[in-house]
Amino acid sequence: MATSTCFPGSNPGECFWQNQPHELHNFRSTEQLPEQSEVVIIGAGYAGTSTAYHLLRDHGDAIKSITILEARGACSGATGRNGGHLRPDFYGHIPTYIDRAGVRAGAEIAEFEISHLHAMKKLIEEEQIDCDFTLTRSIDVWCNEEAAQKAKAVYDRMKSLNLDYMNDVVFYTGKDVEGICGVKGAKACASFTAGTMWPYKFILHLLKSALASGKVNLQTFTPAQSITPAPHGGFTIQTPRGSLHAATVIHANNAYVAGLLPEYAKNIVPCKGICCRITVPAGTTAPLLNNSYINRTEDNTLSYLIPRADGSIVVGGASSKFRPFKEQWYNNVDDSELIDAAKDYYDGYMQRTYRGWENTGAKVDQIWTGVMGYSYDSNPHIGAVPGKEGQFILAGFNGHGMPVIWRSAQELARMVVQKIPFEETCMPRLFQTSQFRIDRAMNGSEDDGDILGTGNFPSTKP
Ligand SMILES: Cc1cc2nc3c(=O)[nH]c(=O)nc-3n(C[C@H](O)[C@H](O)[C@H](O)COP(=O)(O)OP(=O)(O)OC[C@H]3O[C@@H](n4cnc5c(N)ncnc54)[C@H](O)[C@@H]3O)c2cc1C
Repeated sequence: MATSTCFPGSNPGECFWQNQPHELHNFRSTEQLPEQSEVVIIGAGYAGTSTAYHLLRDHGDAIKSITILEARGACSGATGRNGGHLRPDFYGHIPTYIDRAGVRAGAEIAEFEISHLHAMKKLIEEEQIDCDFTLTRSIDVWCNEEAAQKAKAVYDRMKSLNLDYMNDVVFYTGKDVEGICGVKGAKACASFTAGTMWPYKFILHLLKSALASGKVNLQTFTPAQSITPAPHGGFTIQTPRGSLHAATVIHANNAYVAGLLPEYAKNIVPCKGICCRITVPAGTTAPLLNNSYINRTEDNTLSYLIPRADGSIVVGGASSKFRPFKEQWYNNVDDSELIDAAKDYYDGYMQRTYRGWENTGAKVDQIWTGVMGYSYDSNPHIGAVPGKEGQFILAGFNGHGMPVIWRSAQELARMVVQKIPFEETCMPRLFQTSQFRIDRAMNGSEDDGDILGTGNFPSTKP
C-alpha cells in the first residue's frame, strides 16, 4: 500500500479553464473496475490521454483494451490548470543542453518541440477540435539591461551554430524595442512562431474520441495506490475501489510519479506554479495584444502571457517572488491554496507592463495554482522504467509540457506496441529515462540539480 505523500490533493482550487467541467469530468465507463486490461494508464492529463489516443489511432489493431485510472476529475492536473502557451524552446534551455551533451543533442530538442506546432495544428484542424488554437508569434522581452545583453549574446551564439530553425527568430535591441513589443522599459526583445490554446478542451476532446473506440475504460476519482508484479505475469494495480490486472502499465502522472515509483523521488519533484486570468470591466474593450509573451521585468521576474480572443489575458509565473520560500512551492502537491509570496503579484500587472493599458481597469478575475513535475536535469523521463519490464513512464515536463508531450506520447505508443527501444524512436536522446539519470539525482545533492541549485551535477555527460 502507498506510504508516499506524492499523490494529487483531493480539493483543487477553481481555475478558469475548468469553470465549466466537461461531461467526462467524473466519468466512469463501468460501475466496477474491469478485472483486467491489456494496458493501464495512470493519469488522464495531456500525457495519459495522448498516449491512449495514439495507441488506438496508430496501433488500433494491436490494442484490445486500455484502462485509464485518474485520481481526480479528468484532466484536473497541470494540463487543466496551465498557461495555454504552446511555445517551443528555441534558445532558453537549449544552450545548457548543448553545453552538457553537444550541439545535436540540444538542437534536436528544439526541433522536436517546434514540430509540435504543425503536428498539433494539423490534428486540431482535421478533428475540428474546439480549443481556441492560434498560431502566433511569441515575444520574449528583457527589461533589465544586463539580462538583455546576455540574451543577445546567447542569440548570437545560437545563430553561429547554423541551426536552421533559428531562422525563425528575430532579435531586436536599441531604441525601437519598446515600440515593437509594447512593453514599457523593454531593452531587448525577440520573437518566433508559437501557439496558444485551451488545453483542457483539447485533451477532453481527445479523451472523448478515445472512449468512442469502445476499447478504453476511463475511471475517474480512482487513484492507483500501488503496482505489484502479479504471480502469473503482468501487474496488480491497487486502488481504493479494488484492484485490476494489466500486462503493461504506463505512468503518465507527471508530478506524482514518485508516489508509485519511489526511485524517481529526486528526479521528478512536485512543484507549484501560479497563473491567473485578467479581464477589463464589462462593456469596455481591452487594447489588442495579438502575440504571446515571456516578459522579464527590470528585476528579472519572469511571466508567461497569452492573450485571448475575448480580450482577457492568461498570465502566470513570478517564480522569483516565491523561490526563497521553499515550503510554499517545492515538493508541494497542494493546488487548493495559492502561493502566498506571489498571490498579489498580478494585481495591476497589465497597467504597469504594457503601453496603452494604464486606464483600462484591468484586474485579476481568477487566480489559481497547479502542480508541475520538475526534473533534476530539466528533461522529461520517457521510455521503459529501468528494471521494471512492462512499465513505461512519460513524465517530468518542467512546466513546459505543451510542445513536448504530443509527439512523445506518439513515440511512446510505438515503443509499447512495436517493442522498439527508445533509440529507434524520434524522441530527443536527452528525454530517455535511464538508471544513470535516476542514480545521478538520487546520489546527487539538491544544490547541484536544476530545480533548486546550480545544475552543476557532477557528471554532465549523459
Ligand atoms: C500553473 C501552470 C502553468 C503552466 N503553463 C504552461 C504553459 O503555458 N505551457 C506549457 O508548455 N506548460 C505549462 N505548464 C506545464 C504543463 O501544464 C504540464 O507540463 C503538462 O500539462 C503535463 O501534463 P501531464 O499529463 O504529464 O500532467 P497532468 O496534467 O498533471 O496529469 C497527470 C494526471 O495524473 C493524475 N494522477 C496523479 N497521480 C495519480 C495516481 N496515483 N493515480 C491516478 N491518477 C493520478 C493527476 O490527477 C493528473 O490528472 C504549466 C503548469 C502549471 C501548473
